[in-house]
Amino acid sequence: MKIYNSLTKKIEKFVPLNKKRVSIYSCGPTVYDLPHIGNLSAFIYADTLRRVLEFDYKVFQVMNITDVDDKTIRDSARDYPDKDPAEALRTLTAKYSKVFKKDLKETGNQVDHIKFVSAVDSIPDMIQLTQELLDRGLAYIADDGVYFSIQKYQRTGKTYGILQKIEVTTSQSRIKNDEYDKKNVSDFALWKKMQPGEPSWKAIFKFQGDDYDIEGRPGWHIECSAMSKKLLGVPFDIHTGGIDLKFPHHENEIAQTCGAGANKLANYFVHNNHMLVDGRKMSKSLGNFYTLSDIKEKDFSALDFRLLVLESHYRNESNFSWDIMESAHNRLRTWYEFSDKQFQTVRADSQWVTKTLLSFKDLLLENLKDDLNTPEALSEVSKIVSLHLDQPVGENELEAFLSLLEKLDNLFGLDLKNRLDLEPEQKELLARRAQVRANKNWHQSDELRNTLLQQGVGIRDTKDTQSWFRA
Ligand SMILES: [Zn+2]
Repeated sequence: MKIYNSLTKKIEKFVPLNKKRVSIYSCGPTVYDLPHIGNLSAFIYADTLRRVLEFDYKVFQVMNITDVDDKTIRDSARDYPDKDPAEALRTLTAKYSKVFKKDLKETGNQVDHIKFVSAVDSIPDMIQLTQELLDRGLAYIADDGVYFSIQKYQRTGKTYGILQKIEVTTSQSRIKNDEYDKKNVSDFALWKKMQPGEPSWKAIFKFQGDDYDIEGRPGWHIECSAMSKKLLGVPFDIHTGGIDLKFPHHENEIAQTCGAGANKLANYFVHNNHMLVDGRKMSKSLGNFYTLSDIKEKDFSALDFRLLVLESHYRNESNFSWDIMESAHNRLRTWYEFSDKQFQTVRADSQWVTKTLLSFKDLLLENLKDDLNTPEALSEVSKIVSLHLDQPVGENELEAFLSLLEKLDNLFGLDLKNRLDLEPEQKELLARRAQVRANKNWHQSDELRNTLLQQGVGIRDTKDTQSWFRA
């Protein structure tokens, strides 16, 4: 497999640390609101990367759930003003974690292949890592918490600004916010002293011979450094996330982990690009902030959306519009028509499935192993579908056909194999129609076609056979 590594800014051959087991850490959601479609697209790409690697390796993918940070605290206080702050935080984040996992599953991600880890469940690990940075002289205590010193880190000979070049000024300021832009490169908070009305955890830090009792909560960046170390050990193989996480989040993760003694956090950083809506950046003020519910309200499926995402290469900006959604929907409908051939095998032997299975499996996988080229791989699938849509599957090849569908599902997660056959009554109508057609009773044949169409079943006629599809 070849993949673009943000660390080296090159497409590189993927070489795992351990031949048998690949470790992936995916920066997960901050659970303070409904996930929008741009968030979901990042996880669909990470899921696809894992699926492709799973063809050759055992993969262990960890995803964090950010259930304590500036935004979750802010919104839990707003939504549950009468609850105790810790309880308010738990209520808000439990609600949105649930929605997130449901959306993730519905959009075809293999949630049972992911080990989720909650930040709130890992606070002692964050305190310990913060202490380690204090011990190594790379962190210091200020009035409002514990901060990471970028200058001290650089003095150890390490670079701050590995993913993107970053200018560090000599007069170092401090920043308490979890999120900030490059104009505000500053020492960042590892641990934030409790503010009135905020949830907090007890922590005692040792610094320059003194004990500091600083009840508070972790900064956002230390969370991922602590959780990746705890679950995967460092370095691990691949770190995934949206391109917007490069700075400050991933840069800070690298600094914290390497500051605590590691040479590297991860060998490969894989970043996906933004999803635009109608060619513009998604934002609440533009009102173009869609969620999965918006998509389903328009009668599109979550898997239609998954296909739309995969139609763009992960390193390009993808675009969402209702027209693009419609065309993804139509494309997937044709694929389902293809997969419904599993219920319509014919007695005569066929050969095309076995041939397809032999020649196209490698072609598909080859495209995906080439820096996850999903658009090309999908166009190979469309080629298979359009070439064979009218070709029946012989009973001799049913097993091969099901195996083809399963392989496609393993790669793309579009649920091609797991389809529903027609009802027995509908099959009877079809059989009757075949009979009246043989007797050239066109009127009755048309009537039966209409009856089935009203039940959502379309019929395609060939010279002497008919096949059905979900209309
Ligand atoms: Zn993270």
